[in-house]
This record gives sequence, C-alpha cells and structure tokens, in this order.
Amino acid sequence: MTRSPVVFRIPMRTRFRGQTAREGVLLHGPAGWGEFSPFPEYGPRECARWLACAREAAFEGWPAPVRDSVPVNATVPAVDPEQAHDIVRRSGCGTAKVKVAERGQTFADDLARVEAVRDALGPSGRLRVDVNGAWEVGEAVRRLKRLDRFDLEYAEQPCATLEELAAVRRACDVPIAADESIRRAEDPLRVRAAEAADIAVVKVQPLGGVRAALRVVEACGLPAVVSSAVETSVGLAAGVALAAALPELPYACGLGTMSLLSGDVVDDSLAPVEGRLEVRRPPVNFQLLSAFEIESPQWLRRMQEASR
Ligand SMILES: [Mg+2]
Repeated sequence: MTRSPVVFRIPMRTRFRGQTAREGVLLHGPAGWGEFSPFPEYGPRECARWLACAREAAFEGWPAPVRDSVPVNATVPAVDPEQAHDIVRRSGCGTAKVKVAERGQTFADDLARVEAVRDALGPSGRLRVDVNGAWEVGEAVRRLKRLDRFDLEYAEQPCATLEELAAVRRACDVPIAADESIRRAEDPLRVRAAEAADIAVVKVQPLGGVRAALRVVEACGLPAVVSSAVETSVGLAAGVALAAALPELPYACGLGTMSLLSGDVVDDSLAPVEGRLEVRRPPVNFQLLSAFEIESPQWLRRMQEASR
C-alpha cells in the first residue's frame, strides 16, 4: 500500500537560499507522484500554485512531450578559473551558466572565471552569466560590455528591479533574462510589459504546474528557459515535462540540479548525461523515500492552508 502524503527532508551538498536541506511533501495519485516543496518564505497564496503543480502530477499527468530529451546547462559557482574550467569540461554540457558578482570578490575575478569557461566550452559553446540582481544599472552596462568579449548568450538578472533591467536592456546589446523578477504566475507578463527582459526564466512549481506554465509562457511571448527549484527527481520530472512540451526550446534548461542534493527518492535520478536530460518519470523507491521521511505536522498544515 502506498502511503501519501509523505514529508521528506534531504540534506543539500552546499547551502542554497540559506538552507542546508531541501524539504517538502510528496503526494501520490492515479497519475503518479507529485512534489510540493515551496521555499520557507512563501505564504499560503503563493503555495497554492506550488500545490497545483503537485496535484497535476499526481492526479492528471502531463501534456504529451514534443521532444524526448532536453539540453541543460552546467552551473559554475563563484570558484577560481581552474575549477571553473574543470566543472565545464567534466559536465559534457554545451552551455554553461557562470555565477558572477559574488560578495567579497572583484570584477577581475568574474572576468577570469568567464574567460576560463569560454576556453573550456570552445567557440561554439554557449555562455550565460547570472548576476542575481547584484549590480546597479551603470555598472551592469559597463561590466556586461566587457564580459561580452567572451560572447555572452545572455545575462540573468543583472539588476534587482524591472525598471533597472529595462534600463540595462536599452543601453547594451547583451540579451537580458529575468529570473528573480519572476516568482509568481503574473510576473512574466509584468516583465514583458516593462520591456525588462528578452528571456523569461520559468519554474514549473511557482507557475502552478505544466499546463499553467505553458499558458503563462504563451501569454508572455518571451522565449523561456525552464529552471528547477532544486527538487527531487519527482519534482524535476514536472520541470522536464514542461521543457518537453514547450513548442520552442531555444535555450538549455537549468534543470541539472539533482547533484545539489545528497540523495534522491528514485533509483535512477534525473541527472544529465552528456549535457541532456531524458524526458522520463523515474519511479519512486519506497526504501529511499522512507530513509528521507520526517514527521512534520507543520508541512501537512502548510499544504492544507495552500489548498484553501
Ligand atoms: Mg538565476
């Protein structure tokens, strides 16, 4: 007999959003398992969308895929150039996302890291940078122009606000992607209206599931980069289903995040091979699931509140 819902807690290999473990609830239904894992700061209104995503997975399943694998990017944290080079070479990915503007580092560090990644990718590889909203408009424009020597595919969230993103976009040729500016289902339309970005980074849980995300992307009209919220393979499968169902997929996805978790609830994790994720839904292994199961009335209450 399948017990459901099950609350899980899986330690992270490195800190993410100030957390040392990823927690959430797995739900089972006639269509399979779904994951409900909103970040701690989200209230019931936002959590309702995350829950709709889990319910779609468990009770409805997903629209038919139009491709059988999706490309993913390698992620290069704010490490030194040799390590950065190594991460990209070992990943097998043709696209790399490089973190820049790390606290305590200089722009010279960013330039050296990006140069090393371009060298590792070769001239045909795609290289994007992620600024996580850290720069002011003027410095973003100056720095992106200098980084573009290494041929940037795009810059993710160079500044914090929509107005700033729009100003950077007007002043420089590097395409701009909105990530932190898209946290709720209505945000992609606001990004588009503000002319703040060329590309929308979308995540399937906050948008309310695969069908809802497809509608949002269509209404927004910007090319989408599908990213994860650092889920188990159960949650990642929904992101993969979205990437697989989008009519156009011009950019590699940010779905290669399984390696950030120290474990998983399936045997054959959704981890990239040669820079691609197969479109599939690996079955839950109950032994693994019980190894990560925790007692948490708070999580069950959070789910109840989200369903109201
Ligand atoms: Mg980002």
